Amino acid sequence: MAGSFVCHADFSLQPYDGLLAELTRLQNDLIRELGVPSAQEVTHVYLFAKSSTYKRYLTHYFPQAPTRRALFIKERGPGMVFAYESDELAIDIRHEGTHALLHGALPMVPLWLDEGLAEYFEVAPQDRHLGNAHLASIQRFLWLKGPPKIEQLEQLERLEEMGPAQYRDAWAWVHFMLHGPPEAREELTSYLRDIAALAPPGQLSVRLRRRLPQLEQQFIAHYQQLRR
Ligand SMILES: [Zn+2]
Repeated sequence: MAGSFVCHADFSLQPYDGLLAELTRLQNDLIRELGVPSAQEVTHVYLFAKSSTYKRYLTHYFPQAPTRRALFIKERGPGMVFAYESDELAIDIRHEGTHALLHGALPMVPLWLDEGLAEYFEVAPQDRHLGNAHLASIQRFLWLKGPPKIEQLEQLERLEEMGPAQYRDAWAWVHFMLHGPPEAREELTSYLRDIAALAPPGQLSVRLRRRLPQLEQQFIAHYQQLRR
């Protein structure tokens, strides 16, 4: 079984046929871009027509869950994605679908990297390189404050600790690894391969610094080069 999604919705999914097909493509993209194995489990996707029904459902069944527009929840059984119909539904489904595919394939994913990858894959495929709204934001931030500290991201343990700045910074490191120097991408994929093989992966920052001693300079150069 290759990362299949079973959809349950309280409205007609016909207009969303293309979107659901994208989840299959997303699985292929994760395998190709990150070298992660294909997910070994089904993910159940629960879609609600109204945000009020979505909120009531989650408060009832998952009272501890954080308040978010969409959620991926995995406890003992198969993973579950929850979202409601809105202009952002496509983004929400790709974002939570990325979490589902990662957790269906890997025994663990550090929180910041999990979110950085979900932010990266949540936009339509043609927008991943240059069309994500985080790009202009990180370029502004970089100009004012310099590269965000990857070691600080690695210390985040709870979703509640992540606000817009942490999502942007996590995205920025992922984008750097996937579109920056080839060594950075190699380090990301070998890190994920170690996790998949249950080998102690160490810290990604340590591995990146060993591979790219001028890590911050390379990060800056990557985003300068993308300035248009
Ligand atoms: Zn997320």
